[in-house]
Amino acid sequence: MDRDDPGAETRKLRESLAVLRREAEANEAILRRSQERELNLLRAADLRELLTALVAGLRSAFDLEVVTVCIADPQHEIRHLLMADGIEAGDLPGVRFEEALESVAPQFNSLYRSCLGPYIGSDHGLVFPSGSAVRSCALIPLRRQDQLVGVLNFGSGAADRFTRHHGTDFLDHLGNVAAVCLENAVNRARLVRSGLTDVLTGWHNRRYLQTRIREEVARAQRAAKPLSCVFLDVDFFKRVNDTWGHPAGDRVLREMAERVELLIRSSDVAARYGGEEFAILLPATDAPSARILAERIRAAVACEPVILDDGTPVPLTVSLGVASYAGVRESSDIKAVAEELIARADVQLYRAKRGGRNRVCVEAEDG
Ligand code: GH3
Ligand code: MG
Ligand code: MG
Repeated sequence: MDRDDPGAETRKLRESLAVLRREAEANEAILRRSQERELNLLRAADLRELLTALVAGLRSAFDLEVVTVCIADPQHEIRHLLMADGIEAGDLPGVRFEEALESVAPQFNSLYRSCLGPYIGSDHGLVFPSGSAVRSCALIPLRRQDQLVGVLNFGSGAADRFTRHHGTDFLDHLGNVAAVCLENAVNRARLVRSGLTDVLTGWHNRRYLQTRIREEVARAQRAAKPLSCVFLDVDFFKRVNDTWGHPAGDRVLREMAERVELLIRSSDVAARYGGEEFAILLPATDAPSARILAERIRAAVACEPVILDDGTPVPLTVSLGVASYAGVRESSDIKAVAEELIARADVQLYRAKRGGRNRVCVEAEDG
């Protein structure tokens, strides 16, 4: 038929060409939009801007019902970096911080590529806020160096928006960009806060302690005076977080630090060593005197519960390990002596834990 009508052939070719052109234009528009979305993430100046760009920004850019992001924060570090800028977890709707991501959804266990499909209440109940009308969703892994650092969750009100048959390359790419942005923003916030003070307690931080302990070892050697180190770890602290929530845990840590502060001298060096682990350096103090102080700290924490703002009493105990350095110049390697003193106090702390907690263990003294 077309052979009889060369005009029809031309028309058909023109139509095909127009379809192709429209497809190319649509693809170009998609590419441009996705580049713009990624640029918006890359432009975020700080953690708050990035988290807002991830949740609110992507929700409107993709025209979704809801977007959430779950971020692995086992040591509560990211939350504290935000707190240092006056941002509480509640200020960032849609952002969840998790000690273990797999507790949110079973798929998070093995999320290497984006997982698309229907919304299933039993699987995604914790991923999206209750009451949101999500009918299909995409769970996008944020991975860095082979580690799942977070999951970006897109929820659509349309059942056919995310299905198992859709390709995931584009979302995987977005996840990669988001993961790099997250890592950069956390690193930048760390840099800003890489001072020597712990934000939560106002105590020195681990970095400060590591420098200061060398100075104290050198001083102990010069003066031929002992130096003791007390290591302290809150007992069953995870339960405090699990039962009363992370802000309550923070409140408890702050009060514990305040109680300890009342007992130590200004010449003592108190530092937050890790999450709920603290170290106190006691210059010119031998092991028996350090034990007395450690015992007083233990009693001051255990004697009465910490009272939360709503009146809830939170009973609290700590375990303590004590080690001492006699000040004799056995080694000229000050760094090694300092590291060993910390390690020995840590060994005693673990003895105290194993021995039943809420107790003090001192090297050599008690076996
Ligand atoms: P143990 O008696 O053996 O020390 O038990 P634990 O529960 O205290 O120890 P574990 O190390 O299992 O848990 C410590 C928890 O402390 C886990 C971590 O998420 C939490 N944590 C660490 N830093 C902070 C913080 O700054 N604030 C809050 N709220 N929790 C924190
Ligand atoms: Mg503990
Ligand atoms: Mg601990």
